[in-house]
Amino acid sequence: MRRFEFRVGCARVAAVLLLACAAACAQNHDLGYTDTPMLPGLPYHVHDPARPRPPAVTPGTNGSAPSDAIILFDGKDLSHWTGKWKVQNGYLEVVPHSGDLVSKRKFGDVQLHIEWAAPPEVKGNSQGRGNSGVFLQSRYEVQVLDSYENPTYADGQAAAIYGQWPPLANPARKPGEWQVYDIVFEAPRFSGEKLLKPAYITVFFNGVLVQNHREVMGPTMHRELARYLPQPAEDSLKLQDHGNPVRYRNIWIRKLNPGM
Ligand code: MG
Repeated sequence: MRRFEFRVGCARVAAVLLLACAAACAQNHDLGYTDTPMLPGLPYHVHDPARPRPPAVTPGTNGSAPSDAIILFDGKDLSHWTGKWKVQNGYLEVVPHSGDLVSKRKFGDVQLHIEWAAPPEVKGNSQGRGNSGVFLQSRYEVQVLDSYENPTYADGQAAAIYGQWPPLANPARKPGEWQVYDIVFEAPRFSGEKLLKPAYITVFFNGVLVQNHREVMGPTMHRELARYLPQPAEDSLKLQDHGNPVRYRNIWIRKLNPGM
């Protein structure tokens, strides 16, 4: 009888301990696991609860800026830029031969949203028709050109990495219509004079992937091969005056944190 009671007592204690452990384990697992394998090359377990969680961002709607973006042009003024382009009706317009437009702030790795329109009135052909450009770090050009039924060399049409990589497709809208570039730029890395990692560019053109993490050969050149030269880690965004009254609007940029 005593032995039976003792056994029942032990079973009760074991059950209580088991339940407590199960509750504790369940609680710990709410936010992740530490009994899982380590991820190769990382100081974290698979599903590690100690891994930093990304900051909350309120997304934009229909191309408007998310909450953590730097708004470089909202349709009103040139306060974020140096240059003498026109602001009218909520957009910027190249004043031909006035010079490029250069952002006051400087950037390294970024996500850039920018909308542009070639002049509604078609003038010129090939590289002379609606030419401008988005120069990341003032060096690496994603070409802006009226590429709607406008033949030119492939590595010079809209969304080309100029002189290096044609876009994978040509989803250009008609001249005068608004076009959208969403660009991801990874800046090159140097150690002194030595290139450690080239730049990479990804471009969505009107929602179509046209540059897929392309390795950039070096700063943009005309009729010459590109080659890297040491540069600052951050530099201005530049929009090109190529002598055509191209328009821009809704320009926002997000600095990317390589540690995330
Ligand atoms: Mg250009």
